[in-house]
Order: sequence, then C-alpha cells, then structure tokens
Amino acid sequence: MEATWSERVAWPTAQRRGTFRSGWGISTQIPCSFLAVARHRARLCGWFRLQAGQVFMLWAVRRGILGGTFDPLHVVHLMAGEAATNLLDLDIVTFVTAGDPYQKAGMPLSSREHRWRLTELGVSGTDYFEADDREVLREGPSYMADTLDSFPDDEEIFLILGADAAVGLPTWHRWKDVVDRTTVAVISRPGVAEEEVAAIGAPYMWLDTPGIPISSTMLRARVEAGRSLRFFVPDPVWRYVVDEKLYAIS
Ligand code: ATP
Ligand code: MG
Repeated sequence: MEATWSERVAWPTAQRRGTFRSGWGISTQIPCSFLAVARHRARLCGWFRLQAGQVFMLWAVRRGILGGTFDPLHVVHLMAGEAATNLLDLDIVTFVTAGDPYQKAGMPLSSREHRWRLTELGVSGTDYFEADDREVLREGPSYMADTLDSFPDDEEIFLILGADAAVGLPTWHRWKDVVDRTTVAVISRPGVAEEEVAAIGAPYMWLDTPGIPISSTMLRARVEAGRSLRFFVPDPVWRYVVDEKLYAIS
C-alpha cells in the first residue's frame, strides 16, 4: 500500500523529536528571535548527548517560506502555515508578499502597499508567523530565487507551496536554484492531483492536508457581488478590506 503523506513526512519529524525533543513538544511555539531559538536549543543540548553532525541540526533555524500575492490573505494561507509548522517542526513561517508578481502581469491586482498591509494584518497574533516585506521593497520582478539568496545560508528553508504553485515551479526564474536551496513542501489544492506535482521531476514533500476550495480570486469576486468576506479571512483583514473598500466595483 502506498504510504500516506503523514507516514512519508511525519516519520522523520517524529524520529527527530524522539531523538532530541521527546517530552518537550513545544518547539513550534518558540518565536524566532535569535535568543529564543538559542535558549530552546541550548536546553536540548544540555539534556541529550549529541553526535557532531546533530549539533548543526539543532542550531539551524527551520524556516518555512510561504510567498504569495495575498490579495487578500485568507484562512487557507494560515492553515498551510500551521500545517507546515506542525508537520515539519518549523521554528517560523515567513509570509513573503510578492511586490511585483510577474506571472500575474496584466491581471487586476491591488497595490503592493495594500497587499503588504493585508499580509501584516493577516499573520498578526501568531508568534511563529511573520510578514516579510523584502519583495515589496525590492524593485523589479519578485523572483523567489533572489529572495532565497537574501536569507542566511545556514538556515534550513522549507518552501511551502499550494499544489497549483508547485506545478508551475519549472516556469519560475532559476527554478533549479530554488529547488536546490529549499525543501519543497506542497499543500494539496482542489483540482490539482499529486501526480501533476510529481511530474515536474523535482523532490518534494506532500503535506496531507484537506483540500479547501478557497482562493483570493474567489474572495475578490464575492466582494464584487456584494457578499461578505467575514470568516474567509482573518478578522483584521476583513475589517481592512471593508474600511479601504477593496475589490468593490466603483
Ligand atoms: P489568487 O486566486 O489571487 O491566485 P490564491 O488564493 O491562489 O490567490 P496566492 O497568494 O496566489 O493565493 O497563493 C499563495 C500560496 O498559497 C500559493 O502557493 C498557493 O498555491 C497557496 N494557496 C492559496 N490558496 C490555497 C488553497 N486553497 N489550497 C492550497 N494552497 C493554496
Ligand atoms: Mg494563486
């Protein structure tokens, strides 16, 4: 029988927990300030005898990166971050707002300032989530390869993608560099089969999460149709969309 996602992905995580973290169960609650990570890892070092290669694993920050246009950020973005945090034992998930999402050129798009604010508001209140504006501040097309280059080399990076985005990976600028630098972690998305992701021929982890048919496109259309976004998006995002009259037909 084919292994389920949980068997394929959670096993090494569980093994690592069993080796280094048994009984603690709090690693995903640790905020990613250097001191917090250092304190947490130092406690672990005190309790377990480590082999040399494992010391690096304990100290390397495990960062998830979830990039998007976030127009608007919605609950499935947060659920993807939460699932990846738990299943991949991440220290932090960084939500990177695309400043110039070149693959959406010619499509209607809110300003980068609005989308950045929607990201900031959307992730607020969860200490292991952060909003990151490096692509918003950078000129030119928002290439993930450039973004990855700007993170420290010693971090272990997990690129969290919906299955639709994963299928499009080979169209990304320097996509092989992206795949080499990260562990690609794919969240299921209705309408995209895992086989399509496998077909791109790059290594990936499949996160066995329920497919939820919510998209920003669908939410923008709801507002245009005079319907509410409430509970499809975090509360502060809903309030911002209403206050700024985003997506409403003028
Ligand atoms: P749009 O409809 O404007 O493209 P979106 O809902 O796809 O918006 P994006 O900002 O384009 O959101 O996507 C950011 C990341 O989140 C992508 O990797 C995308 O695949 C993923 N994602 C968004 N919605 C879902 C969903 N419902 N299920 C799985 N992944 C999702
Ligand atoms: Mg999309």
